[in-house]
Amino acid sequence: WKHAPASLAMLMLFSRTHGDREFLIHEDERVTYDAHFRAVATLAHKLIAMGIGRGDRVAFAMRNLPEWTQIFFAVTSIGAIAVPLNAWWSGDELEYGIVDSGAKLVILDGERHVRLRDHYAAMPAVEQVLVARPTGPLEGGAADFASLVGPTSGWATLTDVGLPDIAMTIQPDDEVAIFYTSGTTGHPKGAIGTHRNMLSNIFSTGYGAARMLLRRGEVPPATPEHKTHLIVIPFFHVTACSAFLMGNIVAGGTIVLMRKWDTVEAFKLIEKERINATGGVPTIAWQLLEHPDRGKYDLSSLENISYGGAPSAPELVRRIYQEFGALPGNGWGMTETMATVTSHQGEDYLNRPDSCGPPVPVAELKVMSPDGAQAIPVGEVGELWAKGPMIVKGYWNKPEATAATFIDGWVRTGDLARLDEEGFCYIVDRAKDIIIRGGENIYSIEVENVLYAHSAVTDAALVGIPHRILGEEPAAVVHLCSGCSATEAELQAWVGKHLAGFKVPVAIRFVGDVLPRNANGKILKQELRALFAEPAPA
Ligand code: ATP
Ligand code: MG
Repeated sequence: WKHAPASLAMLMLFSRTHGDREFLIHEDERVTYDAHFRAVATLAHKLIAMGIGRGDRVAFAMRNLPEWTQIFFAVTSIGAIAVPLNAWWSGDELEYGIVDSGAKLVILDGERHVRLRDHYAAMPAVEQVLVARPTGPLEGGAADFASLVGPTSGWATLTDVGLPDIAMTIQPDDEVAIFYTSGTTGHPKGAIGTHRNMLSNIFSTGYGAARMLLRRGEVPPATPEHKTHLIVIPFFHVTACSAFLMGNIVAGGTIVLMRKWDTVEAFKLIEKERINATGGVPTIAWQLLEHPDRGKYDLSSLENISYGGAPSAPELVRRIYQEFGALPGNGWGMTETMATVTSHQGEDYLNRPDSCGPPVPVAELKVMSPDGAQAIPVGEVGELWAKGPMIVKGYWNKPEATAATFIDGWVRTGDLARLDEEGFCYIVDRAKDIIIRGGENIYSIEVENVLYAHSAVTDAALVGIPHRILGEEPAAVVHLCSGCSATEAELQAWVGKHLAGFKVPVAIRFVGDVLPRNANGKILKQELRALFAEPAPA
């Protein structure tokens, strides 16, 4: 072999050293590291027996069930490519992901089976559909997934078969998974990641915390404490899979899964399981902070609330620290990076609450002119480019988009950012969301952060609306906290007090609920722009 094998299979073998510790908790199911390993290894052998081999794609779409991690590790341990699909997708969208990836095997949960069963005939490359936890009789030739390995309650008693031999031959640059981008700015694209991409996160996850301790002059405890992490974002998002799942396995922590996001359920789980860390996306943190029943639960075990994937206001950073006594954490990354690129924790984050942190040591960042030809001086805004072992090979089936996005080991992110002298990164907008009003640039995140700092506002987005002469003007959509009130004029005056006049939204719409977001926590600005096409409600 050219290299010693280094793959997710190694991580699986390593995970077993945590033995009888609980690996995951899902409702009343509790699975130890050993039981999970047995379930993964057994499934890996069954997949080989079904004819799944190196490079074959296995697509799966389900809630955050224990089967999700079992499938992910079994597929990737035999050199096949995992294709975790967005469980929020419609039947048409799921069909797109399955056909686009050329999956041979599809594994769904009961709900996804019902959603997709009329599409099976349109997916000729699929040889078999398996359904975990069916909600009724199976139609369309689908078979019960449980017939392969059985329910979680039996995993601990499975025979120890070890990983198949092929696991030892997987190389770091072999493909591991195709994750689809969130589709915030266009059609979702499949990013093809390698074992190296994903494994790079094992180091990056702990880096921010280690830096925080070093800065404080503290030494970590000689016997690491056992930590419990409430996973509330879907595993089909690289943050949950790469950062949270991998990070917990390495640390021997316990993950607690939620069938469905619900703030009160989260409070109950935090109290019952003494959860130490949670988060994922900023909106989850806001919902935990803003819920009127928060005081009824003992949330004192929370030490860390970390998120990424979308902009977060400095106001959120302060409130997490003050009201939960927990340390906020931020990380920047994208599906195209498969793993964390920046990591921001502890005092560093409290001191620079508008930054997403410096790059992890294995990553590099640079800021370039829009045409990609020149580097932009430190402190000035341009397009962010990222490089490192986490950058994926390219897009599946999209040679043109790959050539335009992946250049000499760098990925062009489409985000606008600046770096400071110490290398901390500040995301100011997506290039596609920036508002240009008569030649003046307005970065939506700056205005959103000011709105968030108003005591009545809990959710805010700035969008551009067309103007005949100026080209575009800023307009805002906000959601107020329950029992709070503010008028359009008051919020405009508030923004005008903090920012230049041309940045003040010309119109503000109030919505009764938090703003619409996709499964990965990103505000759907396209939908919000449409609000301004209609006359303002009286
Ligand atoms: P698509 O590429 O399909 O339009 P998407 O870019 O939303 O969708 P993802 O790969 O899930 O899909 O998201 C990556 C993007 O999320 C980044 O480009 C950036 O805009 C945003 N993002 C990620 N982390 C952060 C962060 N910590 N702070 C601000 N924005 C972030
Ligand atoms: Mg993107």
